[in-house]
Amino acid sequence: MIKENVKNILVELPGHVTLQAAAKSRTPDEIEDAIDAGIRIIGENYVNEAEIAFKEIGKRVRWHYIGHLQKNKVKKAIKIFDLIETVDSIELAEEIDKHSSKENKIQEVLIEVNSAKESQKFGVSPEEVGALIKKISQLKNIKIMGLMTLGPLSSDPEDVRPYFKKTRVVFYYIRSLNIPNVDMKYLSMGMSDSYKVAIQEGANIVRIGTKIFGNRE
Ligand SMILES: *Cc1c(COP(=O)(O)O)cnc(C)c1O
Repeated sequence: MIKENVKNILVELPGHVTLQAAAKSRTPDEIEDAIDAGIRIIGENYVNEAEIAFKEIGKRVRWHYIGHLQKNKVKKAIKIFDLIETVDSIELAEEIDKHSSKENKIQEVLIEVNSAKESQKFGVSPEEVGALIKKISQLKNIKIMGLMTLGPLSSDPEDVRPYFKKTRVVFYYIRSLNIPNVDMKYLSMGMSDSYKVAIQEGANIVRIGTKIFGNRE
């Protein structure tokens, strides 16, 4: 089933969009199935879970961190992840920069945008994205590669469209500023229920869990 699901999604994705498998709570075997069917990016929400899968699967694929990253997990995270999609404060960025420097790594990150300004969600509000990016761009061992957003949870993707749209506007605005050490390349938006709308609104990475692996327990 997993392989079928991946193939069905891949055939209908436009060429410029990359499918990321959101793998929280899935076993390494399930992730392997997704890779066999053509997945090249694995998204993980928990560092400890990612370590287990990473040990089995390794660098054959790219690893993205899509959970909320606690500072005490940064050291482990930078050993695994090619892209951390959820940076939302200068303090977290500084911690990443510090550990990346020790590892001789330039850690690529996205800024997480709280596009609907929901109080229970992480991320920086759309108005604050520019100021945060300018600060983080000064750090030598971290490189901003774009934006990520969740948007509000809804079974109707049209409810989320305005927030994808808003994130895209911020994305292109920041890109137009040509800030040194910032490469606005990735716009990560859309999940199982909303990825089609997200692509219409400019996403070039979609993060899909349920539609690949089935319902979580
Ligand atoms: C779980 C998760 C997804 C995928 O959600 P589905 O609805 O299962 O496709 C995408 N992004 C993040 C950050 C997630 O935690």
